[in-house]
Amino acid sequence: MTTAGQRIAYFNGRFVPESEVLVPFRDRGFKYGDAVFDTTRTFGHRVFKLAEHVDRLYRSLHYLRIDPGIAPAELVAITEEVLRQNLVLLGPDEDYWVSQRISRGLDAAAREVWPQTGATVIVECLPLPLRDRASLYRDGIRVVTPAVRRTAPEAMSPRAKTHNYLNVVLGDLEAKSRDPQAWAILLDTNGHLAEGIGSNIFLVRDGVIRTPREEFVLAGISRATVMDLATEAGFSVVEQDLDLFDAYGADEAFLTSTSLCICPVQSVNGIAPRSGAIPGPVTRQLTDAYRRFVDYDFVAQYLKHLDG
Ligand code: PMP
Repeated sequence: MTTAGQRIAYFNGRFVPESEVLVPFRDRGFKYGDAVFDTTRTFGHRVFKLAEHVDRLYRSLHYLRIDPGIAPAELVAITEEVLRQNLVLLGPDEDYWVSQRISRGLDAAAREVWPQTGATVIVECLPLPLRDRASLYRDGIRVVTPAVRRTAPEAMSPRAKTHNYLNVVLGDLEAKSRDPQAWAILLDTNGHLAEGIGSNIFLVRDGVIRTPREEFVLAGISRATVMDLATEAGFSVVEQDLDLFDAYGADEAFLTSTSLCICPVQSVNGIAPRSGAIPGPVTRQLTDAYRRFVDYDFVAQYLKHLDG
């Protein structure tokens, strides 16, 4: 395979073309999902909250007792270098997802074939799926709550961002089998709203902004960004248990994620929020605050890709 024009990734100490990132099949990340990752994005080619994402990555590593063999500051520098080497491949209206992926590495027996000791460390980037998601900003996201429940914190904390996504993958498959355009938001084992495969949910009612408690969901960096911006704008922001009664009675709902930032919900299980507008007024105000905060119009960026 030619390596010309390929993105470059960091792989165990070296910057190599992506096609040369070959993880041994005996890596524990492949065998057991025994790995963690984190993903930020760029806005107009500038990386967003990298230190916060790397911090969260190290909290996930700590939870799984994986020693990455590398300090956070070094990983930040490597990530910036990966990005620098790949920006030339990006169109002016495009941006990247930027990810670190760290597995526990190989068990001793595998070293007969692969001499590697210690963690497997990868840093890579991928263009955002702007075209696929553009219509969500025009129409809103159709949320479906599948029967599959989010992993309970007693089993494995959803606050860690691990490579084992099967629980949310199953939830998403179920939601998409009901409606191919739907995004799953799983309920937790108590029947409260939890989160989706890569997003947090917020409900707005009577001007109060509510989101599920952190114990049951990943502490999204975009979730925190919206909570900060909403508080600054004078809204009261509450983390609490929310059920389908709350969802069906909400004036507005929106999802947050690294790629989406903030995106309106069109319906939950077919039931539209009461405000009737996409986005509703509070969602619009927070979207504007988000755009100002990142100094980039991500909504225009998505919409530009609508018919392209
Ligand atoms: N929940 C899960 C399970 C996720 O994978 C993600 C994506 N990282 C999120 C929520 C949203 O987090 P963030 O805003 O940091 O992208």
